[in-house]
Amino acid sequence: MRGFNDTAAPYSQDTTIVQQFEARVAEQPLAPAVYVKEAIYTYGELNRAANRLAHALRSSGAGNGSIVALMLERSFDMLAAIYGVLKAGAAYLPLDLESPPMRLQTMLSDSAPGWVITEGGVSRPSVLPATVEWVPLDSLADRDLPETNLPDGPEPGDLAYVIYTSGSTGNPKGVLVEHDALTNRIEWMQKTLPITHKDILFQKTVYTFDVSVWELVWWSTTGAAVCLLQPRKENDPRVFVRLIEKTGITVIHFVPSVLRLFLEYIGSDFALERLRSLRYVFCSGEALTVPLVSQFYHTFPPGQEVKLINLYGPTEAAIDVTYHVCERDALDQPVPIGRPIDNIRLYILRDDLTHASIGETGQLYISGVGLARGYLNQPQLTLERFVPNPYEPGQRMYRTGDLASWTMEGEVMYAGREDDQIKLRGLRIELGEVESCLLRAAQVKAAVAGVRIGDAGEQFLTAFVVAAADAEPIPEQDKLRALRAELALYLPAYAIPTEIIWMDEIPLKPNGKADRSLLLAIHGGKAAQS
Ligand code: AMP
Repeated sequence: MRGFNDTAAPYSQDTTIVQQFEARVAEQPLAPAVYVKEAIYTYGELNRAANRLAHALRSSGAGNGSIVALMLERSFDMLAAIYGVLKAGAAYLPLDLESPPMRLQTMLSDSAPGWVITEGGVSRPSVLPATVEWVPLDSLADRDLPETNLPDGPEPGDLAYVIYTSGSTGNPKGVLVEHDALTNRIEWMQKTLPITHKDILFQKTVYTFDVSVWELVWWSTTGAAVCLLQPRKENDPRVFVRLIEKTGITVIHFVPSVLRLFLEYIGSDFALERLRSLRYVFCSGEALTVPLVSQFYHTFPPGQEVKLINLYGPTEAAIDVTYHVCERDALDQPVPIGRPIDNIRLYILRDDLTHASIGETGQLYISGVGLARGYLNQPQLTLERFVPNPYEPGQRMYRTGDLASWTMEGEVMYAGREDDQIKLRGLRIELGEVESCLLRAAQVKAAVAGVRIGDAGEQFLTAFVVAAADAEPIPEQDKLRALRAELALYLPAYAIPTEIIWMDEIPLKPNGKADRSLLLAIHGGKAAQS
C-alpha cells in the first residue's frame, strides 16, 4: 500500500533562515552577496541595510506576529527590505506595484498590515487606512539607525510571509507560511542539490509568487550569491543569456513555458559556452513535458554538467513538496513530479479517503512540516482545504485539488486538476475568480471562463458572456472596452481574458452547470484540461 513516505529527516527546528544568514555574514562579511546591474553588494552591506530597517520597524512597534507589506520593484532595496522585515520577526507581504486598484484594496484591507514599505516616488494609495505607517525607504536614509543584528529574531513558529493567490469566490486569498516550513524546504534543497560560495542564483521570479521565496533566501544561508534580474524582464530570454554570461549564474528557475521560450531563443547554433556556468535548472509551476525535457538535453549536450529538476508544490505547502531529477537517458519517459522532499508525506486518495492503488488516479494530499498555517481571515476555507489526516491522528493534510497517481517506482505522476483552477504560463488562476469579476460588470448577465488551446498549442484565456437584458445598446467594441476596463480594476493583467465572446445563452450540462468544454470546443481549438 502506498500513501506514506518515510521522509523524516533532521532540519534546524530551533533556527530560521535569518539566523542562518547572520551566521554566513559573520563568516564572510566581505563576500559578494548581491549582483544587480553594475553593482555588487557584500554580505555585510546587505546585513547592515536589513538591520537598519529591522531596527526602524521594531522602534515603531513591529515584531513577531506583525505583517509588513512591501510595494517595491526588484532591487537591492527590495532584498534588504525582505530581510529587514524577517529580522524584525515580522512576516512580509509582497504586493505588486501594478496591482489593479480594487485588488490592492482587497489585499490591504484583508491583511491590515501595520506598515507598507515602498520606494520614494510611489504615492500612497488612497485606500490605505490612516493607521497604516507608510515607509518610503529613502525616508530612513538620514535616520541614525543601528546596523547591528537584533538580539532576537523570528521564532520557527512565526509567520515568514503572506502570499496572495487566486480565490474562486472572486477575491484573492492570503496564504500564511511559517518559518519552520520555509527552513525545512530550504534545508532539503541544500542537502539534496547543494550549492556553495561559488554559486550564483538567478532571482527572476516576481516576488508575489512563492517560487521567488527560495530564489530570495536559499543562497544567503549557504554563502552563495544572488543576481537580480531587472524588473519586467521575466519573459526575456535575451536578458537571461546576457546575465548568465556576464555574472556566471549557476542556478536558474523557469516555468516550463518560459523554459520553452528560452530554449527556442537559444536554438541550435548558439554559442553554448555563453551558458557554461549553469549547473541546476529548476522547473515548476506547471507540467513539464517529455518534449521539453528532450529539447533541454539536446540543447545542452553531455559535456555540460547541467541538471534539469522538476519541482511541484502549491503555495499552501511552502513552495515545493516533490522533486524529480530528469535524467538524460530517460528522454522518452513521462516526467513525474517525483518523490516527496524531507518531512513531507504524500497521499493519493480516492473520494472515500482510501488509498488509490499504484497507477490509479486519485487526489493528492500533502502532510508534514511544509503546510501553511492556513488562509488569512478565512477559517472556513482553511478547514475545507486543510483537513484532518486520517492516517496520522492529530496531523492535518492539505487537499491540493491536483490529480495524481503512484508509479511502480514510488514516484508521483501529475494528472491535472479536479476543479476549475488553471495555470497560464505558470500563473495560478481560479476560473471562478475571473467569472465572479465578469459578473460584477453591470453589462454581464452570465459568464463562463476557460482555456482554449489554439492550433499551434498556444493557450488563450477565453470568456463567454451573455449581456444583461437591460444593458444599453452600445457598439460591440465599446462594450468590450468598457468590460476590459472594469476587469482591470480587479484582475491582474494575466487573468484578464484575451478573448471575450458574446453569447445569446450559455449551454448547460444535464446537471444544470455551464458546459465549459462544449463552449470551448465549438469556438475552435480544443478545451484545455483544467
Ligand atoms: P502555486 O500555488 O501558484 O504554486 O500553484 C500550485 C499548482 O501549480 C499545483 O497545485 C499544480 O496544479 C501546479 N503545479 C505546480 N508545479 C507543477 C508541476 N511541476 N507539474 C504540474 N503542475 C504543477
